[in-house]
Amino acid sequence: MRGLWSEERLLFTPAVPEATAVPLVWAYPNTYSVGITSLGYQLIWGLLAQRPDVRVSRWFTDEREPLATQPELIGFSLAWELDYPHLLDLLEQLQTPLWSRERQDGHPLVFGGGPVLSANPEPFADFLDVILLGDAEELIPRFLDAYLTVRHQDRQEQLLHLAQVPGVYVPQFYQPKYAAPTGHLETVCPHPEAPPQVQRQVYQGNRLAVSTVVTPRAAWENIYMVEVVRSCPEMCRFCLASYLTLPFRKADVGQGLLPAIMQGLTVTDRIGLLGPSVTQHPEFPALLTALNQPEFDQVRLSIASVRAATVDELLVTTLARHHTQSLTIAVESGSERLRQVMNKKLDQADIYRAAQVTQQGGLKGLKLYTMVGVPTETEADVAATVQLGRELRQLVPRLRLSVGCSTFVPKAQTPWQWLGVNPQAEKRLQFLAKQLGKLGVDVRPEPYKDSLVQALLSRGDRRLGPLLLLTREYGVSLGGIRRAFKELRGQLPPWDFYVHQDWPADRPLPWQHLTGTVTLAMLHQHRQRSLERYDEKNGGAADGTGTTIATTD
Ligand code: SF4
Repeated sequence: MRGLWSEERLLFTPAVPEATAVPLVWAYPNTYSVGITSLGYQLIWGLLAQRPDVRVSRWFTDEREPLATQPELIGFSLAWELDYPHLLDLLEQLQTPLWSRERQDGHPLVFGGGPVLSANPEPFADFLDVILLGDAEELIPRFLDAYLTVRHQDRQEQLLHLAQVPGVYVPQFYQPKYAAPTGHLETVCPHPEAPPQVQRQVYQGNRLAVSTVVTPRAAWENIYMVEVVRSCPEMCRFCLASYLTLPFRKADVGQGLLPAIMQGLTVTDRIGLLGPSVTQHPEFPALLTALNQPEFDQVRLSIASVRAATVDELLVTTLARHHTQSLTIAVESGSERLRQVMNKKLDQADIYRAAQVTQQGGLKGLKLYTMVGVPTETEADVAATVQLGRELRQLVPRLRLSVGCSTFVPKAQTPWQWLGVNPQAEKRLQFLAKQLGKLGVDVRPEPYKDSLVQALLSRGDRRLGPLLLLTREYGVSLGGIRRAFKELRGQLPPWDFYVHQDWPADRPLPWQHLTGTVTLAMLHQHRQRSLERYDEKNGGAADGTGTTIATTD
């Protein structure tokens, strides 16, 4: 694709690499268009490219900059679990053994980061030498500085030195022990010279991430992305975006967000405000008011989904004025009871009001995110979501209504990590899609099969490594994974163990040696509290599949 790199407009000045600079490949295991739209990928590329002691080349599955013949470091960001085969392709292209244990002195060190690896890196751990846990602003400089001090030592010494850096996880120094080949994890044994626990690192600056490059080839064409908040203080019990990255942080409006937006406007008129819940920013109204000044009239504004309870006239009219057509709110369910179990502090009245304000403010569409298979959910709860769609149809007839439906997936590091996927979810997803479709709502269900694969990788352990390698041959799909499970029978637990079973609360978790801001005790407490809400109203303990949860709390 000629001219791809020349179409990029950079928002920073890259350093000129020194003669002795470390050759490093910075990869995104998907296409250029997808990878360059990742703010995390851009952020780290900017950090690397501004260092004269590093010579960085970018790699995407369809495009790459000229690569060093012998890179010393290969890094990548994994934001979507099923991108992993592309990472293995890259290692093969660079003649690097796929298994970390087979790499020797002279082979590159392979490091990874990103949300998938930060939550639970274990299924991928044997392919990686180093995993960076936490915020890149803290980790990338520390990791590189530490590497430079041991650059010319042998591989084992390098890894042992890197393992001492807070947030740098070297999986080979943490060996899992299982009750049996097909049994549960008993413990993780750390190397005597490695810290027993690795703590995810938190960046506390008042400027968050902003685009380092703008290009018409991005999936969101020519967008300049601005991170408004990091994490979310609401702590909905299923939400990885909240629990994994706590504490909640916000960019300073006057010194961070507005100057960043002004800089972005020198190369584009399209601004994207990102974060798990941007309207949680306490000064968000001030930001909107600033964006309503005449000098920002030409700005095309895009915004991530927002909490329904925070939708107001200022937000909606600002979006309408800046060429946004629709608003997305995450309601999760039409059942007030179920929203309480989720800790989603959202009244039915908030949803109606958000819809009315959206219509009155001049937007054309409203999208709702919903979920099925939520712990304690009954068919009546799913029917309540259909009823909500019916009521909104009548309440805001001028709005184009669309509904995204997904299946609850237990995510590591959240209070519901112990709960399996409810097999009833598939039927409920179909019911929801059919009933809402009849009302003229545009329904976009996420494939149930994809959710199952996500659950597998989200709660997987290191025994999934050989399975992932085999699945790469069979095709990365539910069918391919099932076939690989069959072939490896007796060498790892069955599919149901990872995907559908509820796990006892006192059982060690594969990621338990990787700690974050929220302790395991707090996760226990939050899980217990969410299910007690159900007990209070129903006189019995239950999980999503209708069985009692084993617990020692
Ligand atoms: S409000 Fe949204 S982002 Fe915040 S915890 Fe709940 S689901 Fe996550």
